[in-house]
Amino acid sequence: MIHHPIIKVAIPVPLPQLFDYLQTEDGSLTPVGSRVLVPFGHRKLVGIVIAHATESALPTEKLHRIVQPLDQSEPLFDSKLLELLKWCWKYYKHAPGEVVLSALPPVLRNAQGKLPAAPLQYLLTDSGRQRLGQPAGRAKSQHAMLEALADGPKAGDKLSSIGSQWRKTLARLKEGGWVEEETAEAAEPFFTPGPQLTPEQQKAVDKISHDLQHFHCHLLDGITGSGKTEVYMTLIERVLSAGRQTLVLVPEIGLTPQLLRRFRQRLGLEPAVIHSGLSHGKRLAAWAEARAGRALLVVGTRSSLFTPLPKAGLIILDEEHDASFKQQDGFRYSARDVAVKRAAELRIPVVLGSATPSLESLSNAASGKYAWHRLRQRATRASLPHWRVLDLCQQKTYQGLSSSALEAIAEAIDRQEQVMVFLNRRGYAPVLMCHQCGWHGSCDRCDAHLTWHRSAGRLCCHHCGRQRKTPALCPECQADALMGAGEGTQQLEEALEQRFPGLPVLRFDRDRTSRKGVMDRQLEEVMKGEPCVLVGTQMLAKGHHFPNVTLVVIVNVDQALYSADYRALERMGQLLQQVAGRAGRMEKAGTVILQTFHPEHPALELLLTQGYEVYARWLLEERRLAGLPPVGYQALLRAEAHERSQAQQFLQEALKVFPQGEAKANGPIPAIMERMGGRSRMYLMLLSSSRASLHRQIDQWQPLLRDLPSARKTRWAIDIDPQEL
Ligand code: ADP
Ligand code: ZN
Ligand code: ZN
Repeated sequence: MIHHPIIKVAIPVPLPQLFDYLQTEDGSLTPVGSRVLVPFGHRKLVGIVIAHATESALPTEKLHRIVQPLDQSEPLFDSKLLELLKWCWKYYKHAPGEVVLSALPPVLRNAQGKLPAAPLQYLLTDSGRQRLGQPAGRAKSQHAMLEALADGPKAGDKLSSIGSQWRKTLARLKEGGWVEEETAEAAEPFFTPGPQLTPEQQKAVDKISHDLQHFHCHLLDGITGSGKTEVYMTLIERVLSAGRQTLVLVPEIGLTPQLLRRFRQRLGLEPAVIHSGLSHGKRLAAWAEARAGRALLVVGTRSSLFTPLPKAGLIILDEEHDASFKQQDGFRYSARDVAVKRAAELRIPVVLGSATPSLESLSNAASGKYAWHRLRQRATRASLPHWRVLDLCQQKTYQGLSSSALEAIAEAIDRQEQVMVFLNRRGYAPVLMCHQCGWHGSCDRCDAHLTWHRSAGRLCCHHCGRQRKTPALCPECQADALMGAGEGTQQLEEALEQRFPGLPVLRFDRDRTSRKGVMDRQLEEVMKGEPCVLVGTQMLAKGHHFPNVTLVVIVNVDQALYSADYRALERMGQLLQQVAGRAGRMEKAGTVILQTFHPEHPALELLLTQGYEVYARWLLEERRLAGLPPVGYQALLRAEAHERSQAQQFLQEALKVFPQGEAKANGPIPAIMERMGGRSRMYLMLLSSSRASLHRQIDQWQPLLRDLPSARKTRWAIDIDPQEL
């Protein structure tokens, strides 16, 4: 019998299995972790080799050969990363190929995509050194280049200062044997000492760095301004000194130039940055540098979690409570949870940092699973801000701002200080209404109002992106009576400009800062410290450090108090605390004004009088009573279809075949926003006090779901540890 080695390949198709192929006739066995081009139906797809086998469930005659291996060098993924991806597809019940391919930079998902060559550096040969000792003569630029190399090897781009002809000069010197090239080494970090650590910081650093050789999960629970970033940098310094790599994960909008600058200054190292907003080329280059072990500090958002790190020494996840760490479509993983898993497999420590830790992490810290490091003092002399709650029932408002808030703003400006006005709603008004007949602009594809973007003359849906021109007259009764109801950041900007003529008002929201350079320019303006007002959405809540902001006005968070989402109060508490943390970060004391129609709401009262930790403990107790996460384990079966009845029918059939066990299924339940993008969205909620039972039952259920008659007519997915309902 002929022995045919089988190659098991992950292919980016929404199917739950790996696919078996035969090796090309001439080739040797393509190594595990490498890319291959394979025939699939009428197409040719790029897949990754996951395993070799001697047997297939299919007869050998039925198997196709791979078209060709795509990677000449070492496999792209090492076995540890493959193990992690395998764990991910099993845990998140997602198609293996989609999981594995999503871990590659987009360029490498293409058959033409190649790993870039390692960067080169240039150095003097012996004869080059001799020539340097002789007079330059007429070859001035050659001599200048030799001089530039006198104190050690340099990368090509460092030689460009010689003049525009530097490439030619370099080529001559190489031809003549005066200069040779070699693969560049990792840049040596150059540390600049940081400030003397506070006792709390020192304690955290000592405990975490006490054992950097093993897996431990650390929760760095430090109020804003307590110096968490300083703790990270001290730890990174130690890891770098040992020649090992650190991966720092930040939320989508946490990747600020400020943070990168601090890393650069303190560690003397250019961080390799990886996020989805980069050009494909840059992202590939950073990924390749990390994979080669040359990039010692990798900073990125969620998607950078799967970057290969041959010399991994530490993972840090900043703002660990942030919802953007959970991917909300396709492969719905939590970067926080997978980061902990990855650190465990790599046997390295992981640090989760936040001023407002998630209930998940707090409960893990409370149970002793995570080491808990509290920083409760601000690192600088700044004191904690003082809260003032303004009852909107008792106040006159002017385009959303109460008279007391306006007075406080005027006073701060008189003192030559800066003010931040926070409202998590962009646009001019959240809805456009007819005061004659009550018509209001709503999206025909979503259960949502259209936001009025007045200056653009448009009504926009913030959920599906649909836009239309603002009607001049009411589309229903033709009356000239259309008016905005409620406020968005654009309206606040306008109101403040009218109220304080001549005062700079800087708006920070997606509409404004999506234009290139605007964000940096505005941040620079704020940093000058002149009196001004910053108006913005949660974009302002994170990562920034504005020394002269002493007053924060929170316009409205009342929606969260009565939301149907059980996480709404947790998120509100985090947001309030984060926004408040922007006030009075330096010597000057800060004030936070919270406007609300419900000053007596028990959640608000608890948060403001007792602080986030007590508040979170209370929320955790509520979750315990309801058996909700993180006390209970949850998963959703989500379904969406054009017609509600289709989604409903699928979920009802699914419910009937849900396997018996500890986990219980409930529903169908409409999503909090049922219609979105023209589809009706519903779910079954699965809840269990045992994670193992929940997963076992779902694993038994999945093949039954695929066979349901209605499964083809609906778009459905399993969402493990969901963050949104
Ligand atoms: P966090 O990340 O917790 O918000 P940062 O690390 O950004 O806090 O620190 C807040 C401010 O305090 C920064 O300006 C930082 O330079 C400063 N800082 C941090 N640690 C110290 C320290 N030990 N001594 C003096 N200043 C410090
Ligand atoms: Zn009308
Ligand atoms: Zn819409």
